[in-house]
Amino acid sequence: MSYDTNNVFAKILRGEIPCDKVFEDDWALAFRDIAPQAPVHVLVIPKGDYVSLDDFTAKASDAEIAGFYRAVGKVARELNLDTPGYRTLANTGDHGGQEVPHLHVHLFGGKPLGPMLAR
Ligand code: 5GP
Repeated sequence: MSYDTNNVFAKILRGEIPCDKVFEDDWALAFRDIAPQAPVHVLVIPKGDYVSLDDFTAKASDAEIAGFYRAVGKVARELNLDTPGYRTLANTGDHGGQEVPHLHVHLFGGKPLGPMLAR
């Protein structure tokens, strides 16, 4: 799947659509989900043009991958989620239920989150 430069997260990265930013560095941008599913629901996205986790792990440089995943951890710590704990989720493709075709890691927290998957 080729990268669609008009996807909503590409527009957020370009500043064409506003977001409630919680973190930014050279590798990643993190912002609150527009339809939160937990008391804390943040999306962490890489700065590069990657469709999904599959695309990212196939094509991104080691520096991009390290920078991105370090950012995920930093965001969780900055939001004080590390001690009570949190959940990350990267929906990938059709069966994963991915809606926006720019890699994003959901970061959920703020309460006990229950079973891993809806039953
Ligand atoms: P997916 O189903 O692709 O894993 O998750 C996409 C997520 O993006 C959803 O949780 C949805 O609420 C969120 N989302 C979609 N459009 C926007 C937007 O314009 N701004 C923000 N902050 N979140 C969005």
